[in-house]
Order: sequence, then structure tokens, then C-alpha cells
Amino acid sequence: MMKAKAAVLIADRTFDFRELPVPDAPPQGGALLRVEGCGMCGSDIEQYKGGTAKAGIGAFPVIPGHEILGRIQSLDAAGARRWDLAEGDRVAVHGLAPCGVCPPCMRGAKCVDAFYYGFRSLSDGSGLWGGYGNYMEIAPLTKLYRIADDLSVEDALLFNPFAAGFDWVLRLGRLQVGQSVLILGGGQRGLASVLAAKDAGASQIIVTGLRRDAFKLEIARQFGATHSLIAEETDVAEAIAELTAGRGVDLVVDTTPNAFQPVTDAIKAVRHGGRIVLGGIKGHKDMPAFPVDELLMKQIEMIGALSSSHWGVQQAIRLVEERRYPVHLMHTHSVPIQDVEKAIQTLAGEIPDDPALHISIIHTH
Ligand SMILES: [Zn+2]
Ligand SMILES: [Zn+2]
Repeated sequence: MMKAKAAVLIADRTFDFRELPVPDAPPQGGALLRVEGCGMCGSDIEQYKGGTAKAGIGAFPVIPGHEILGRIQSLDAAGARRWDLAEGDRVAVHGLAPCGVCPPCMRGAKCVDAFYYGFRSLSDGSGLWGGYGNYMEIAPLTKLYRIADDLSVEDALLFNPFAAGFDWVLRLGRLQVGQSVLILGGGQRGLASVLAAKDAGASQIIVTGLRRDAFKLEIARQFGATHSLIAEETDVAEAIAELTAGRGVDLVVDTTPNAFQPVTDAIKAVRHGGRIVLGGIKGHKDMPAFPVDELLMKQIEMIGALSSSHWGVQQAIRLVEERRYPVHLMHTHSVPIQDVEKAIQTLAGEIPDDPALHISIIHTH
């Protein structure tokens, strides 16, 4: 019997490295995946600190990891037919598999019984449901995307952060060719939004970041940003007025976590009749002061964004496969699974002088 090597999160800030049996056969209608790598995002930090478990999303022990890339180890006939895949094919895995048949699913809302990779208990079957393990089971309703064999694991893993950029800027923000966009925040999601805007033919792409994010703003420039602003040193609304001859931008995308000033800046910087997409989570706190009158007088459309769609993932994979942009600039760390704890702390900014952008766990077999 094959064994999977996995980092199991057993309590807040506590990993246990285990060898777990890999089932001999894939789940009925599903597949077994040999995991090549797993990307990390802010929810990995939340999960590591115990925040998601407290919120009722997955309980310990659990194998985390929901930004998954791998190769089909085995699949049954039903899986092969549905996905049109064969053993050895390289795929990106959508981290969230809605059931498709519950009433909320039927109207496009949040599934009552969604399958969340990286958040399913170790006691659920084999327990191999997270990308922090080097083998995984793939449930039948999962969306799998073929991805080019000759991309590096790190480049291929960008399908996840880049998907959000396409969703937020294009699907939700509905940016048109020749329009201007202000992107608040220069992290993974902010830079993904810059790329999506560039790819869609935006005229002006203005991105903000903190002083300590200077290296990220430099990457934004290389991804196609026309202007970058240091948030602590600039009145963003004034700067936008100057850059757009007083008109304001067509679209603002807020990707900043835990900050309300960017929301106010967005309302001030957007043009009359423009759109604002809010994608930066604010730690479940309410905004102390909200300029409602300005929002309604300017007839602004404000849209909440969570995660990314099937379409967004497809666009992200296309962009990475086209190799027209220096996407590798996103990679700051590639780590083996034994170093996952330090990697999470690095992503969280807890390690001095080691700024992180995109971190990839690279598995061995
Ligand atoms: Zn994620
Ligand atoms: Zn459902």
C-alpha cells in the first residue's frame, strides 16, 4: 500500500507530520491525485491560527491546502468519462466543489453542502483531502482543469491567485477596453488584478501599496500598472483626480485586508456612475464611518467579491500558459512540506526581513 506524506494540523499553530495510507482505488466516480504542489493564501494563515476552525469551517485534525496542482494517479471509468482525463494528466483543482443540486446551488448562491478541499476532517474516509499531503482523493463533483505540462509547479500554481484578478476586475467589475482602474493593495490579489486589467486592455492601471510593499509595486509596474502610489504618503483621492483630469476612474478594486480608509478612497476616486469591487476582508469589523451620501449622489455600484469562479480559473490558466507576462516575479518562496510552518509564518509577515508574495509548497514522492 502506498503512503502519503502529509502535514496534519492538529491544533492551533501545531502541525504533525504523518504517513497515511493511500486508498488502493479512487473514490467512486472520482480520482486519486499525485500532488505536485500547493499554493498558500491568507486563509491558510487563518486556519493555522485556529480562526477558521473557530468559525466552524473544518475541525482539527485536518490536512490543509486548497490551491492544488497535481497529476492524475488513477481514476475510474466514470471519472475518466466526465473529466475527459487519463492517468498522468496534469490538472489544477478547484478548491471548492458545490453539490450542484441544493436550492442555493440552483440559484447560484452558497451551497449548503459544498466540498471544501483543505478543510475536511482527517476522520473523513482516507482523510487525504488537502494539498499539504502529497497524495489526495478527488471527489466526483470537483472541477479539474488541464494545465500545460511544461510550466513550472510555481507558475502553474498561480492559477489560483490570478483567477481572483479576472473575477474581480472583469466578471464583477466589468472593466471595458480603454477604461481606467484603481487597484487598492499590492498583494497577491492586487497584482492579479493588475494583470487581469492589463490583459483586458485597460488604459490606466493605478495600484496602491504600503511603504513596506515597495517591491510589490515594482512588480505591479512590470505587470502593466501605469502608476503606483504609496498609501501612507499620498492622498489617494487627490492623486486619482490628478491622474484622470478630475474625472475619476471607471473601476476601483479593493484588495486590502483589515483597512477601511481604502473603502472611503474608493468612493472618492471612482467616477460618477462607476463601480467598486470590494474583495479585501475586514476582519468581520464594521466600518466606523461610511460616506453613504457620496455613494448615492455619484450613483456608484458597489459589489462584494468572494473567492473566484470557474471562468476566472480558466482565464488564469490561459494567461499563465500564454507566457506573455513575467508571472514568475510573483514567486518569493518554494518550500518542501517539512517547512510549511515557517512558510505560513513568512506569509503572515511574522518572520522579520523576509517579505513574501506567493509561496509554493513543492512535494516529493
Ligand atoms: Zn486560497
Ligand atoms: Zn449545493
